[in-house]
Amino acid sequence: MRRCAGARSVREPAAHLRDLVPYDPKYIPAEVMVSANENPDDVPESLRTDIMRAIRRVALNRYPDPLANGLRDLIAEANGLDRDQVLIGNGGDELLFDTALAWGGPGRVFLNMPPTFSVYENNALLTGTSVVEVPRRANFRVDEEAVVARLSRGDVDFTIVTSPNNPTGDAVSESFVRRVLEASDALVVVDEAYFEFSRKTVRPLLENYENLVILRTFSKAFSLAGVRVGYLLGSERVLSEYKKVRQPYSVDAISQVVASTVYENRSKFVFGIERIVSERERMFERLGQMDGIEAFPSESNFILLRMEGASDAWRELLARGVLVRDFSRTRYLEGCLRVSVGTPQENDRFLQTLADIAASRRAR
Ligand SMILES: *Cc1c(COP(=O)(O)O)cnc(C)c1O
Repeated sequence: MRRCAGARSVREPAAHLRDLVPYDPKYIPAEVMVSANENPDDVPESLRTDIMRAIRRVALNRYPDPLANGLRDLIAEANGLDRDQVLIGNGGDELLFDTALAWGGPGRVFLNMPPTFSVYENNALLTGTSVVEVPRRANFRVDEEAVVARLSRGDVDFTIVTSPNNPTGDAVSESFVRRVLEASDALVVVDEAYFEFSRKTVRPLLENYENLVILRTFSKAFSLAGVRVGYLLGSERVLSEYKKVRQPYSVDAISQVVASTVYENRSKFVFGIERIVSERERMFERLGQMDGIEAFPSESNFILLRMEGASDAWRELLARGVLVRDFSRTRYLEGCLRVSVGTPQENDRFLQTLADIAASRRAR
């Protein structure tokens, strides 16, 4: 857009935006979309019919229930908790932002364990929160001793333990989370966005630790990335602080009924989750047989791999219709690509294409 001569320009925005780049999922249309850790299968057809029926009953002219109490009650009951120990958000992402708003801010400290989900660091920068880093080890496992030692100094206000971690795929042990919770009174968010694939949760620790909250989402195992619903499990005390910073109507009425219908029928997703887990193991094995490719073990629905010329490989994969996530120029992840587990056919297509790329390099 061209401005006319003499038109007014705008003053600079807030100073901390200068070093920020807008989040870019690099979502390019491709035949095989395995870049965003989504469920390759949409919600089953029979459930879609139930969803449509539920949507038809929604009053569009009325504001939604601000706290999504219907959905809250379903999740609370399934987790053996009270309604006040559950909070629904506009995707897990909103709840992560709310975490930084409520526990971060100028003069406050967030402990990060990179490489991990980039949203955490961005939220800290947006809210003026200081970030201290305890980088993962060379094999991408958390440096447990260093994390506990850093927390013991007592100046950290909150930290996020991602289990399984995105994009490295590894999960932490419950005993490590317990040590983190014991090390200080910092708020500890355990991001379990992928726990349906690892089948590990620290839910039992909620009984004893007021400083623990667990984050989950409908975007991965439950095929609802397009709908935007996530939730927190935690103490009433902590969640009441989140209520002060959240946008009152962030979870719209349609999302509430879609997520409720899916949650009530979550047993219908078990088969798909099991298929993803067994496909992940098959892909990991096959990747391990390819020369020049190092694949990292995953308990999630994606695999991180490292190779020479990763960004060229990313481009060649895309040229052949396969979109994976390129981390090759990301700090701590140099030379890495991440592939989400797709349908068996999509996975075959990815594996064959990557094997061709690797073979044509050897021939050069
Ligand atoms: C996908 C993801 C989330 C949440 O995603 P939403 O779609 O906003 O619910 C949270 N944490 C991690 C590590 C993720 O990968």
